[in-house]
Amino acid sequence: MTDISTQTVTVNFKLALGDGIFDASATVPEGKCNLTEILPVLQSLDSSLLSAVAEDLNEAGLSISCKAGCGACCRQMVPLSLFEAEALAAWIATLDPDTREILAQRFHQSLLKLSSAGLIDRLVSDDWLADTDSARQLTIDYFYQGVPCPFLQDESCSIHPIRPLICREYLVTSDPRHCADPAALQIDPVPLPLNFSRVLNHMGAELEAGSHGWIPLVFLFAWMESGAHPGAAFSGTGPEVLYEFVRRMEFAGKPSRKEPETPARAAP
Ligand code: SF4
Repeated sequence: MTDISTQTVTVNFKLALGDGIFDASATVPEGKCNLTEILPVLQSLDSSLLSAVAEDLNEAGLSISCKAGCGACCRQMVPLSLFEAEALAAWIATLDPDTREILAQRFHQSLLKLSSAGLIDRLVSDDWLADTDSARQLTIDYFYQGVPCPFLQDESCSIHPIRPLICREYLVTSDPRHCADPAALQIDPVPLPLNFSRVLNHMGAELEAGSHGWIPLVFLFAWMESGAHPGAAFSGTGPEVLYEFVRRMEFAGKPSRKEPETPARAAP
């Protein structure tokens, strides 16, 4: 990790959203930092954008159905960007040993269940980016194993303030009961003008040829053993790192390939 500056600077900029413009403002470290270290800034920006989307929905007579205590979608495979994996690894390292062990056991149990269903090999080998029946079937098979995200407790997210961007961005307006059986019932995901999670995945994919730029969240503890620090690849002053992220938003607006989150955090 960079010795992150305590001095901050506020950056104002505009994001093009379809026909509209979103006026954004972010306070970032003035000095050296990296992409993983400014994730809280991106989470805050994403929240502002999602609030604007929710207001637009309300004006159109719709509302977001997702509520605390509903963790149905937390049984999907969650594509976790490498940078968020790094941030969660740093957070896990701050936990006391007993809490960390309990969490490690939860991840282990999830992997055992997926393994006994024959899904681990498919998770590793299937091309989730491909628009194939195989990828779609994997999405369905994963969900119906009913393996909850190891961070899910009492049907609520135990890491809610630091949950991945893709979890924040997966919202529906349909009846929340439908999320428990998405292959049979109608799900209406909220279309977003920008997916911050998608931008992070694109940046992660830049780090290694052939990489998706993300890992299944359930692989987090195994990934942590690599000791990787992907955020270091995007370092600079706070405004420079933020600019690198914003610059890549054009990819999110104009995807040239099937997006990585499609098979997972969307209705199978
Ligand atoms: S991180 Fe939280 S919101 Fe995301 S899938 Fe896990 S429990 Fe659900």
